[in-house]
Amino acid sequence: MDCIFCKIINGDIPSTKVYEDELVYAFRDINPEAPVHVLIVPKLHIESVAHIDDSHHTLIGHIHSVAKQIAEENDISQSGYRLLTNIGKDGGQSVFHLHYHLLGGRQLKWPPG
Ligand code: 5GP
Ligand code: ZN
Repeated sequence: MDCIFCKIINGDIPSTKVYEDELVYAFRDINPEAPVHVLIVPKLHIESVAHIDDSHHTLIGHIHSVAKQIAEENDISQSGYRLLTNIGKDGGQSVFHLHYHLLGGRQLKWPPG
């Protein structure tokens, strides 16, 4: 499958790994929008939240626990951070392999543009 994040997970494209287990891979975004900008992706190729079904519930919950752990390891747990996933065209998704952005280390703006 011609998916850039599957290639990163497989090691075919280099990345700066911050976490890995049997279900999840996390790495630094190549174009960081904040001092901490990590992408957390399931190893299973799921296109987006719009493609999740009941069989993915444990995986999605696990991603949240991994996000919490990465935030603690990057010292943004106390200052706060944002965990988000873009879905489809209007959501601004550009890579169609489910991924969660973990952003922190500065005051983030709201609402988004
Ligand atoms: P999206 O716009 O789909 O929510 O987010 C995709 C993210 O993937 C963007 O923040 C972009 O900078 C990041 N990205 C795209 N290609 C690569 C890559 O080859 N390596 C890394 N580390 N990040 C990438
Ligand atoms: Zn993929």
